[in-house]
Amino acid sequence: MNEELFRQIPQVNDLLASPGVAGLTGLYGRGELVAGLRAATDAVRTGLRNGDSLPDFDSADFANDVEAAILGARQTNLRPLINGTGVVIHTNLGRAPLAPLALQAMQVAAQGYSNIEFDLESGRRGSRYDHIRELLCRLTGAEDAIVVNNCAAAVTLTMATFAKNKDVIVSRGELVEIGGSFRVPDVIAQNGARLVEVGTTNKTHMADYERALSDDTAIILRTHTSNYRLVGFTAKPALETLADFAHEHDLLLVEDLGSGTLVDLAKAGIGDEPTVGESITAGADIVTFSGDKLLGGPQAGIIVGKANLIAEMLKNPLLRAIRIDKLSLAALEATLRLYEAPFDPMADVPVLAMLTAGSDELREKAERLAGLLDDIDGVSTEVVVLDGEAGGGSLPGITLSSFGVAIVWGNHKPEAMIEALRNASTAVIGRIVRNQMVLDVRTLVPGDEERLCVTMGQLAGA
Ligand SMILES: *Cc1c(COP(=O)(O)O)cnc(C)c1O
Repeated sequence: MNEELFRQIPQVNDLLASPGVAGLTGLYGRGELVAGLRAATDAVRTGLRNGDSLPDFDSADFANDVEAAILGARQTNLRPLINGTGVVIHTNLGRAPLAPLALQAMQVAAQGYSNIEFDLESGRRGSRYDHIRELLCRLTGAEDAIVVNNCAAAVTLTMATFAKNKDVIVSRGELVEIGGSFRVPDVIAQNGARLVEVGTTNKTHMADYERALSDDTAIILRTHTSNYRLVGFTAKPALETLADFAHEHDLLLVEDLGSGTLVDLAKAGIGDEPTVGESITAGADIVTFSGDKLLGGPQAGIIVGKANLIAEMLKNPLLRAIRIDKLSLAALEATLRLYEAPFDPMADVPVLAMLTAGSDELREKAERLAGLLDDIDGVSTEVVVLDGEAGGGSLPGITLSSFGVAIVWGNHKPEAMIEALRNASTAVIGRIVRNQMVLDVRTLVPGDEERLCVTMGQLAGA
């Protein structure tokens, strides 16, 4: 190793004053610049040990390395990525991308103070739930509503408020595991309630519910099988029948819908998902659902139902521990407003727009992207037809036919390309279909095309 070369690496203090990095001094603070120079000179030392030659410290190349180090250090651990999986509600990738108006509402709420718990009319303390109460009642037909941190919390609060030391009857066909350790039997047990299973996996009849009744029964729980389907020789009572039965026996009918859509997706040709309004009309006393699944809003758990029951939940001290924060509440209110005139949720709520995107639209999107990528040296593409899914415990068994772009650069195997894209400066998540690395265009959001082209340029040029 040549000690002399190491000695020729300038001190960080000298580099700060050098003409090479003069262009950076206006852009970055001294602290960041010093850290960037340290990282860049460390990299030079490593290079020398590996036999590289000494760079020109006044060159644009060195300044670029310093800037890359600064920007690299600025990158947060939680960072945006490009979802090319075609799975619209992807729990691991953050579920629902928000509408621009929801983002704006969040930013405004975050920037300064707000009337989150302040009644402007009286000048007294207000309730954070008042901001979305009327909206949710209008959209679902329920008497009252509150929102909490997520749907798991909504179910927990319901059980803790109404079923402590009591029985909760659930059909064996509905003992759902959602993922991330949310399992219906455990949620019931954890809140001091007793699970009474009835029926069989495929069939549960009214007689099964009747036989399970006891003096301790408090709730009949229906759980929406939001992430699997029972098909074939199956039966379960209609929600109306279950509601009548519950009310005859002074019990509550609670429905955990999970995915919880406010609009009839079947009308758009997608699945047969029940709407929240239908459950309320059928007589459910309480309905719980997620804010960031089919609703297309922020993480939240929404509870709608009878006013006297919501009033009881409001008094439960547990509510304080699972309360929704102001940013989520702001985004939720703004998202809910997109379900009313002058807006059209199918166009204005990104999740719904992505789910209902037509083949012509998707094909055009794929062709445009393929064209842009083809212009990059060393990259070749092909437009392909794909089968996608809604994901996130929504619309199980429903395939959404889509379009994608198969991408090749160099002589890489699909697995190697998947890995390279995942580790790129902007991470891109693709999948392998028929031995090709493909990106489904359904889940690309505005700006993704440009980011993807920059990333592909870097990968193909490397
Ligand atoms: C997704 C889901 C939940 C959990 O919702 P989170 O908002 O993720 O907490 C609960 N119940 C059902 C039926 C679900 O589908």
